[in-house]
Amino acid sequence: MTAIDRLFRSAAFPRRPSGLFVPALRECARRQASRFPAIARLFARQGFSPSRLRTERDVELVPFLSVAAFKEFEFPPARPFGAALTLASSGTSGQRSRIVLDEGSLERVKRSAESVYGALGMVDKSRTANYLCMTYDPRKAKDLGTAFTDELLSSFTARAEVHYAIAWDAAARAFRFDLEATLAALRRMAATGLPLRVLGFPAHVAFTLEGWRARGWPALALGARSWVMTGGGWKGHAGLEIPKARFRAEAAAWLGLPVENVRDLYGLVEHGIPYVECRLGRMHVPEYARVFVRDPETLSALAYGRKGLLQLVTPYLTSYPSFSVLTTDWGLTRRHCRCGAAGETLELLGRAGRSPAKGCAVTAAELLKAAR
Ligand SMILES: [Zn+2]
Repeated sequence: MTAIDRLFRSAAFPRRPSGLFVPALRECARRQASRFPAIARLFARQGFSPSRLRTERDVELVPFLSVAAFKEFEFPPARPFGAALTLASSGTSGQRSRIVLDEGSLERVKRSAESVYGALGMVDKSRTANYLCMTYDPRKAKDLGTAFTDELLSSFTARAEVHYAIAWDAAARAFRFDLEATLAALRRMAATGLPLRVLGFPAHVAFTLEGWRARGWPALALGARSWVMTGGGWKGHAGLEIPKARFRAEAAAWLGLPVENVRDLYGLVEHGIPYVECRLGRMHVPEYARVFVRDPETLSALAYGRKGLLQLVTPYLTSYPSFSVLTTDWGLTRRHCRCGAAGETLELLGRAGRSPAKGCAVTAAELLKAAR
């Protein structure tokens, strides 16, 4: 077994250092440089060689590319290879990333999601749940990152009904957030007595809640086996954004589930490791990745608790050159969390720049404006 596969078969939040990350990253960096001429050139320009990766402290030396680079440029491999899956962010204005996953990378993404969510108590394959996805109907948006995420997140239980809120409107030839159909699906699902999992953009969850209230319908009682699992952020939503603590409390009261069961997720199409909130609402960094916080001017790595731009590093990805990526998201890291789960935590503090690259969440926000 390769060093990369050994890491991804190990625990998401080990109590003690497993020693598996650095060898896996070294192997990944080698494979990246041999597959992508752009990465080999980047390493050469910065005087970096994968063999320099010997200890944990060397990880911050790995060169990175800006996430914007992936929206602007293609990075052709030296030799063609088989793609198991291609994923796109849903931006409409030409700024899209198109991520290629080979068989191994795809398997590792799936494995890491299941390990992370499993460690946080959200995988229960012996039970059946309904799924209300506040995202694009995958029959019409198969290659979108959100469709892939939904498929993944709804595989943690057996599935009863799955409803997608953003439907394809054949007459208008466009996607539309269908509030009426979403409210009807929620009523139907609540009546089955099965647990419910709500997935997708938080703004759409808030919008559906608003619609429910406007109709004067009473709160539901879905219980402790039901979850709200949001992701994609509030990007492009300045007017709709509500504080996270209030969102969690209101969503929990509306659906009748514990506030600890409302969890947010951070991830990028370019970086498929999920950073999922624990019961205290802190996003934990699993063993499959490292997060550095960089000063926006000097790009030097900052200490715990200092705000900067997030850089994400993971060895799962051998088929696309974003294994070390500097995001346009502000954040900070902390060494420990009171919840008891091991690992550093990550706090998101917004998005850098005045004209954000269009991602799934921004386009979805436009649909929400249209639905109002
Ligand atoms: Zn925690």
